[in-house]
Amino acid sequence: MKLVFFGPPGAGKGTIAVKLAEKLGIPHISTGDLFRAAIKNQTDLGKKVKQILDSGALVPDELTVDLVRERLTAKDTNSGYILDGFPRTIPQAEALAGITELDAVINFEVSDEILIKRLSGRRICSSCGFIHHVEFQPPKHEGICDRCGGKLIQREDDSETSIRKRLSVYQNQTAPLLGYYEKTGLMIDIDGAPAPAEVLSSVTAALEHLK
Ligand code: AMP
Repeated sequence: MKLVFFGPPGAGKGTIAVKLAEKLGIPHISTGDLFRAAIKNQTDLGKKVKQILDSGALVPDELTVDLVRERLTAKDTNSGYILDGFPRTIPQAEALAGITELDAVINFEVSDEILIKRLSGRRICSSCGFIHHVEFQPPKHEGICDRCGGKLIQREDDSETSIRKRLSVYQNQTAPLLGYYEKTGLMIDIDGAPAPAEVLSSVTAALEHLK
């Protein structure tokens, strides 16, 4: 199954994608994760995009599309994938349409108030990437990942200034894609406000109807 997870930053795309990808046995492909890995490994791409990610702006379409095009040639994508955080602009969506045919676009709907609360309290494991939240999913030991014992950090772009920038980038550059995908008939709206287990079952139920 070829899926796109769509929605503003903090909508829960990553959290649900990890769980659903495991359940369906398909890879979870997050362009944000791919960029962060490139930055961590100090590759040429990483050096090019570090400042852009820190500021909350979007990486240029060409770089992003090339990255995804390359990733989608890997064998593990043969039986499908979940694209998380891509596409984020109309040109990216048009490029994707030229690469593959999607089964569905899951649109996670969440109010700005909840998004800000989720993003500002988010803490990521610097080692395994597992996501905690100071209020909604606090670690058993402060600053330590429950899953692997790694150090929890706050993403550079989860600062208040970057959060505001990312939400406005979403409104201006990414939200116009809603109209684009509505026309394709692929879009499924999901209420992203409840706890992850409930959102996951809504997504699973919606996908059942596609079969
Ligand atoms: P995310 O982890 O999805 O919130 O992405 C983190 C950051 O990576 C974004 O704020 C952008 O700077 C960059 N990024 C991720 N996906 C894309 C994309 N599809 N197009 C452009 N920039 C992206």
